[in-house]
Amino acid sequence: MSHEPHRPRTRSGGAGELFELTAGQALGRIEAGELGSDEYFDAYAEAAAGDELNAYLWRAEPGSRAAGGEGFRGLPIAIKDIFCTEGIPTTAGSRILEGYRPPYTATAVARLADAGARVLGKTNMDEFAMGSSNENSGYGSVLNPWDRSRVPGGSSGGSAAAVAARLAPWAIGTDTGGSIRQPASLCGIVGMKPTYGAISRYGMIAFASSLDQCGPLTRDVTDAAMLVRAMQGRDHCDSTSVGIEGGVELPSREDLQGLRFGIPRELAGDAEGIEAGVSENFEATLRLIEELGGELDQCELPSTRNGISAYYVIAPAEASANLARYDGVRYGMRDPEPEDLLGMYERTRARGFGAEVKRRIMLGTYALSSGYYEAYYGQAQKVRTRIAQDFDAAFARFDFLVTPTSPTVAFELGAKTADPWAMYMNDYCTVPMPLAGIPAISIPSGLAAPAGGGPELPVGFQITGPAFSESGILGAAYALERAIGFTERPAA
Ligand code: GLN
Repeated sequence: MSHEPHRPRTRSGGAGELFELTAGQALGRIEAGELGSDEYFDAYAEAAAGDELNAYLWRAEPGSRAAGGEGFRGLPIAIKDIFCTEGIPTTAGSRILEGYRPPYTATAVARLADAGARVLGKTNMDEFAMGSSNENSGYGSVLNPWDRSRVPGGSSGGSAAAVAARLAPWAIGTDTGGSIRQPASLCGIVGMKPTYGAISRYGMIAFASSLDQCGPLTRDVTDAAMLVRAMQGRDHCDSTSVGIEGGVELPSREDLQGLRFGIPRELAGDAEGIEAGVSENFEATLRLIEELGGELDQCELPSTRNGISAYYVIAPAEASANLARYDGVRYGMRDPEPEDLLGMYERTRARGFGAEVKRRIMLGTYALSSGYYEAYYGQAQKVRTRIAQDFDAAFARFDFLVTPTSPTVAFELGAKTADPWAMYMNDYCTVPMPLAGIPAISIPSGLAAPAGGGPELPVGFQITGPAFSESGILGAAYALERAIGFTERPAA
């Protein structure tokens, strides 16, 4: 952990120094007149142009001068390719949307632009956000900057890899079952999934509408707070958006005095498949919570044991309905030689969707079919309610709950592609929160060796709290981030 001597893995000084600034620090320099807004944007546009990780699907040219206003002063930001951006290709990682240029911009992105940020690029992702490794992208895998033979996590893997590799100062992504927090963990950065309804989903290509939520992937907790603050709010285009009452405070907590942290047995100590290195790091981070004055105790979330099972009924069920719109008529790809209308639908979907998307459409259609609806979908919804009740009971005793973010560090490309269940288990610790609609953050807590041996890789620590406790979570994460002092970087 941080108390041991650090092994910096990055270049330092010179031009590289610019890339070590957090977005908040860069903003401070721009405001002080020490750094030019265009100079900063172009430095990143050039870095992104040299992307060797396949993190980007589209990049702004250096010298492109979209308006960048007050507030963020033209800071560049990378956007997961699931957000519609007017006139800019938007694929959601799918071949079926190849060539699609949306006629409008997602509210979350529009809010960032209104706050003065400029789109640096669109990042690679698992197709329609279905995946935990980015290997399901229709445009090739993203490589983990810490070790290019390993995955960056998913589905927001392009955003996570770009931020970790200094190809973007910060980014946004989406999280349905863990897709912000798990790649943030595997790439050694901060990722936050806000409360369901905190940020508008308008213009965010739908995967599972009752779970999907937009959030930040950043170098530190302050940057995450800045992005959630700018994006949150009610939007009349998304009837489920409510915003965060009172907004989001920038974090400043220095200790954890008076805060009670619960450790859910099912998602920490008792959980199967947590690597030894991840467990050790988790325990060491718990000791830091105590050093900072926080109180720790065990608790139970019994129904979260069934979280993955419930998620893999509910999310595919919603996806099967959401993906019905890709019929070759309205967006992107169309099969060029259909014999008739039905054939055109079938051939377009057969060619345009990848294997995992087809698997989910079949699972979801089956779960919703008459005769099975109650047995699967109805049952999964009951589990979902139980999970939310478990969290409510725990939050009567605790301010926050803490778990490892991902059971393992980054795994090798191809290691889990033949075994969907092993892949799904990646999200064991992250799926319960979206099912309950509550916010959670992952912060880097150190490095650990993978179970199979090899150089150490980043580990993430997850903090979750009740609905709309974003400011509280960010404050606790900020105090802990300083105590951890994670300064390791992937080699340039
Ligand atoms: N890995 C999970 C899945 O494949 C979660 C994805 C997500 O959060 N978008 O569905």
